[in-house]
Amino acid sequence: MGFLMPDTSEVLLDAVSLTKTFGNGTRAVDSVSLLVNRGETVGLVGESGCGKSTTAKMLLRLLSPDSGSVRFDGVDLLAARGKQLRAMRKRLQVVPQNPQTSLNPRLTVRASIEFNLRAHDFPKSEWKTRVAGLLDRVGLAERHAEAFPHEMSGGQLQRAAIARALASEPDLVVCDEAVSALDKSVQAQVLNLLVELQRDLGVAYLFISHDLSVVEHISDRVVVMYLGKVVEEGTAADLWSQPKHPYTTTLLSASPGTGRERIVLKGDPPNPANPPSGCTFHTRCPAAFDRCSVEVPQLLTVGRQHNSACWLNETADTIEPAAVSA
Ligand code: SF4
Repeated sequence: MGFLMPDTSEVLLDAVSLTKTFGNGTRAVDSVSLLVNRGETVGLVGESGCGKSTTAKMLLRLLSPDSGSVRFDGVDLLAARGKQLRAMRKRLQVVPQNPQTSLNPRLTVRASIEFNLRAHDFPKSEWKTRVAGLLDRVGLAERHAEAFPHEMSGGQLQRAAIARALASEPDLVVCDEAVSALDKSVQAQVLNLLVELQRDLGVAYLFISHDLSVVEHISDRVVVMYLGKVVEEGTAADLWSQPKHPYTTTLLSASPGTGRERIVLKGDPPNPANPPSGCTFHTRCPAAFDRCSVEVPQLLTVGRQHNSACWLNETADTIEPAAVSA
């Protein structure tokens, strides 16, 4: 995403200027760059329809971008075919929002996990031991191996989905609203599990959520999207303590425990097929001024490892345009 100057040996996923426009003219994702280092968690946050799930689909090769590039551990992911693509898929897994629909209702948990083991050529002689080990890791009992999805609670199902994702021993797991459907207390348990797994296995996460308080809880860095664009990115600590974009401030104000006064945005997000001129947030921004509806603010460096796209940041302490990683 450009604001870091990482040791290239640490870079796992490097997406540059991804753009996707759908047939109806909707620019769902506009020049989004995103970088995930080994073993870290990057949060991707924004309202429903901001382009975060479309971005994830492009990273997972479920959707082709119109332009841009994605490198995974140095390999051009968009050009990968055959064996190379299968090898990439093994290392890049997903935990979806709703395991009720993502786990096959006619398969037991064991069969779902074994499906992934088979797909990635793990010897059949190891399956039983591997399934038992995975269930233990995610805090499920041995008996859950023979359970069907409809026999399990939401939290148990999400643990099973995590076990299935981990079966191929991935380097990066994309968690797409992975805890959004859970009660708060179960949500906290699953988040703690993800943190523990990262500590033990060194796996990296791209954690997608509409809820900044959830993302902040587990992320090293956070990327905020609005109407298909990155509007702010930085360490979780910096975004939490000193947000530099009014949209981030608004999201934070909605998070419990921040002690911030709640800011209620005017109206609904604009139609992405017909975005507002200038800063696309100007129709709802509490701080908008004349320039905002005319000129598009670029992502600028506003601090160490901190970028924001807002005219309010164009002051003496704005350092330089955010570099785009090559
Ligand atoms: Fe608000 Fe203007 Fe900043 Fe956009 S550029 S976020 S409208 S103050």
